[in-house]
Amino acid sequence: MTDPVLELVDLVKHFGPVRAVDGVSLAIEPGEVLGLVGESGSGKSTLGRCVVRLVSVTSGQVLLRGRDLVPLSRNELRRLRRDVNIVFQDPSGSLNPRMTVADIVTEPLRLHRIGSSASRRDRLNELLDQVGLRAELARRHPHELSGGQRQRVSLARALSAGPALLVADEPTSALDVSVQASVLNLIARLQSELGFACLFITHDLAAVEFLAQRIAVMYLGRLVEVADRAELFATPRHPYTQALLSAAPVPDPAIQRTRNRIVLTGDVPSPVHPPTGCRFHTRCPVAELVCSVDQPPLRPVGPANTLVACHLVADDGTGPQLTKP
Ligand code: SF4
Repeated sequence: MTDPVLELVDLVKHFGPVRAVDGVSLAIEPGEVLGLVGESGSGKSTLGRCVVRLVSVTSGQVLLRGRDLVPLSRNELRRLRRDVNIVFQDPSGSLNPRMTVADIVTEPLRLHRIGSSASRRDRLNELLDQVGLRAELARRHPHELSGGQRQRVSLARALSAGPALLVADEPTSALDVSVQASVLNLIARLQSELGFACLFITHDLAAVEFLAQRIAVMYLGRLVEVADRAELFATPRHPYTQALLSAAPVPDPAIQRTRNRIVLTGDVPSPVHPPTGCRFHTRCPVAELVCSVDQPPLRPVGPANTLVACHLVADDGTGPQLTKP
């Protein structure tokens, strides 16, 4: 086994009374794309922000190549930023409107004193080419670009210093549907060419099925299931994962019509007062008494790499099936 690029150990992030992330442990291997899915309010974006230390961490560890980022000072963190970078949902908010594309893309190289100004120019051209932008766009400002072009610029910037890990937080959901696929394809191509690991955060199951090798499902600040992509889509084990997958649209309308959808009743509970026991018990169609009392641990079940937090899933991975195939 290689050492993970990223390891989260019992990560907790509370914003005052809001328990956004509440004890998440997870590792990402070098070159692996891990998809993190969940509804809005699940804590997945907060988790991504903890990884790049855009927000402070309440407790737990964020180990980047074995080094804990949590106790580091701002200056120490800045040096480590070379190794991890993030692209956001809305690139407009993260690109300085007064800077040109050239300055935006090469800023990490200047900050980390990588290369001479001539070599940075070469690197700029290489990066623009890699993300599919014409070299003449280098002199433009963000407002002169389309949404898709701006997201390409933020990708070029995030990758300029050659990070080992890219956090991509809903990178396509603010874009027109017509450009979403091209940006997803671009991320997939760059990832396979450059080999960085990626924490891909999204509510879009089709995107995660396309891009991720392994998938982690989050509900109210905790992980409920982690599995290899094929395994998770073929045999979702946690009742929440089953509900999430059953609600996702499928391209074939004939299948869509005959499909058994699981409609969850009730709203997502508040992360200020998460339910006791299993956090999903207030909406789970198969909840039993124990579920409201004991919190089920995330534990290995069934096939390799599969972890589930549910009292009713047996060690061999069998358990409640809410939909009939
Ligand atoms: Fe449902 Fe209980 Fe499993 Fe939670 S532990 S998902 S409430 S069956």
